Amino acid sequence: MPREIVRTENLCCSYRTGRVLEDISVTVEAGDYVGIVGPNGSGKSTLVRALLGLCAISDGTALLFGVPCGRFGEWGRVGYLPQSLDQLNPVFPATVAETVGLGLLSLKRFPCRLTGVDRNTVDSMLEELGVYHLKHKLIGELSGGQQQRVLLARALVNEPELLILDEPTAALDPETRERFYRLIADINRNRGVTVLLVTHDSGAVGQHASKMLYLDKRLLFFGSFEQFCLSPEMSALFGEHSQHLMCHRH
Ligand code: ADP
Ligand code: MG
Repeated sequence: MPREIVRTENLCCSYRTGRVLEDISVTVEAGDYVGIVGPNGSGKSTLVRALLGLCAISDGTALLFGVPCGRFGEWGRVGYLPQSLDQLNPVFPATVAETVGLGLLSLKRFPCRLTGVDRNTVDSMLEELGVYHLKHKLIGELSGGQQQRVLLARALVNEPELLILDEPTAALDPETRERFYRLIADINRNRGVTVLLVTHDSGAVGQHASKMLYLDKRLLFFGSFEQFCLSPEMSALFGEHSQHLMCHRH
């Protein structure tokens, strides 16, 4: 039986302004690559933040690796690239290597120091993502695409089982975006990392992900692209033309 990575049952989330997620029940299995799509403000970021325990759950349940979200203590098993890159203050004097090293440090107890082995781990991750030559550069000196790769390296340096990416390509030009998507697909396929990718680029999801989760406060669809494409409900919702454009396969 496939291993459950994420499971939500009737999950609801609210802010002071009211409910933004209603009755979300999904199960994500090990090795899945789930594209999370939906209009602006449909609750995509809230959903992944709730899974990470970064946002309160007002009703229902959510489990990560079988453990209730929020009480989850094993951060090393999840790599997260948040939507907002505010954390990357351009004048913050951190180099690429230091930034990726922070991913390892975040899991250590006192004394919080990188070992020689850690430095090698950082180096090989930089190499794998093609940014080793930027190792000593300051983060603020890099292009948007290079910064995204460095942040991805930081999210991957602990060898997570689950990778959560929230609109990672918003600031990238089309060519860099395509390369980034291929890289994620590669990580999913070759390393067996389960991926949740939030994006409003529904075409890219159809090309790369194995399942689609369509959100609009409620769960409108969750399943394979084949199911999506054959679903009369989805034809009624999107129109057959858009349905095929989103699916990208048939
Ligand atoms: P998406 O990522 O799909 O664009 P979000 O999850 O960011 O959607 O937001 C869902 C809804 O919740 C939106 O209406 C948004 O305005 C609201 N919202 C998001 N974050 C907060 C917050 N911290 N406080 C109050 N409302 C919020
Ligand atoms: Mg968002």
